[in-house]
Amino acid sequence: MNRKEFLASLALLPLIAKSMDLKSLHQFTQKLLPTEQMPVLFFGHGSPMNAIEENEFTIGWKQSVQVLPKPSAILCVSAHWETRGTFVTAMDMPKTIHDFGGFPQALYDVQYPAAGSPELAAATKEAVKKTSIGLDEDWGLDHGSWSVIKNLYPDADIPVVQLSLDYTKAPQYHYELAKELQVLRKKGVLVIGSGNIVHNLGMLDWQNQNGGFDWAIEANEKFKELILNNEHQQLIDYAAKGKAFQLSVPTPEHYLPLLYTIALKDKQEKITLFNDKLTMGSISMLSLRIE
Ligand code: ZN
Repeated sequence: MNRKEFLASLALLPLIAKSMDLKSLHQFTQKLLPTEQMPVLFFGHGSPMNAIEENEFTIGWKQSVQVLPKPSAILCVSAHWETRGTFVTAMDMPKTIHDFGGFPQALYDVQYPAAGSPELAAATKEAVKKTSIGLDEDWGLDHGSWSVIKNLYPDADIPVVQLSLDYTKAPQYHYELAKELQVLRKKGVLVIGSGNIVHNLGMLDWQNQNGGFDWAIEANEKFKELILNNEHQQLIDYAAKGKAFQLSVPTPEHYLPLLYTIALKDKQEKITLFNDKLTMGSISMLSLRIE
């Protein structure tokens, strides 16, 4: 191609862009192609301030993705999106939701402008047979996802889709639904669960920034043992395991994202724990990588 022809082809570009609407251009740029199986991650997210602070937890989060191949998209199960029925965000550009109160203005000023992925939303809906997943156009990215993912991928250059938690369903149901997401791991999708394994806001101890109540330590230790020994049924039936577990998981929403991640573990895969620390008495920041 000589210079004149090259310039002529440049002139055609706006015409080509015009003939494709924005949505098809968007989908064209983010095909979910077959890949090696992607790892799965669970993050204890803790305070929303982790979005803008640099501390031992955010350093652990960043390190957890340093050796990973770049995902084609992220599917995040956040503790902070509970619905009747199960939904995935299906919009092109999810908004940043500031779903908390009483924090510094700097946190409300954060925007995480990652694109959505209508293609991943459709692939998620297609993968799951257990229920009919709804395509959501209203939600966006709540702080359960953006406070963590902003640390992992600060350039916001990977599309993010959220999957909601159906609050009418028991833990067993969530675990079985999660198993159907396995196929996405072979399409370059990084599945992330974001919650806290021990999470009791009513019992927060502001004097104990770097430690936990005895019951929180006991439950955290037992949870780790069950996770590392692949005792999935016991993890599903946590509520029947006594007082320490009941205090540690008074409501299920911060715990269920863990079940979404362990459900995706193949027998031969290994688990790496990190950020294994209790904070403010009743929050466990324990996080894990499955690969
Ligand atoms: Zn939370």
